[in-house]
Amino acid sequence: MNIAVLPGSFDPITKGHEDIVRRALPLFDKLIVAVGINSVKKYLFPLEQRLAFLEATFADEPKVEIDTYQKLTADYCAEKGARFILRGTRNSTDYNYENTIAHLNRDLGDGLETIFLMSAPEYSFYSSTIVREIIKGGGNADKYVPDAIVTML
Ligand code: ADP
Repeated sequence: MNIAVLPGSFDPITKGHEDIVRRALPLFDKLIVAVGINSVKKYLFPLEQRLAFLEATFADEPKVEIDTYQKLTADYCAEKGARFILRGTRNSTDYNYENTIAHLNRDLGDGLETIFLMSAPEYSFYSSTIVREIIKGGGNADKYVPDAIVTML
């Protein structure tokens, strides 16, 4: 069984994340969207709410599992029997960052491979950061987030 983990903060999930998940589904038997808990990071949305957004977005998709973890990503993948990490890349900044992490995870995770999907061009400027900035500024971020969570924001 091919299991992949998409780790992230999802603070909140955007249409860019949703697109990566849906496009990756034909590649895997199961895809775990996992919210990594980093005690140092400050989040806009509490963990429970970020998980609820993810559950609502992928309620129609039986291959997607939503989870949360605190340990090293490589150790979490081993525990879940996942041999693949899924990440999206938007630009060279993402690439440069992801490059190091992917090598590290392959080393730490005993061959744990990272699969990259390039962002769809229409979502390549979407980020959780811009959604948070719009919300903090009192604007309307509906078009940047999955349709399923618009009423929950
Ligand atoms: P992190 O806190 O690890 O950066 P995020 O929740 O921001 O986690 O992102 C998780 C994954 O989704 C990362 O691989 C990131 O590059 C990818 N991603 C974020 N926004 C987009 C987008 N608009 N299109 C494609 N991939 C994206």
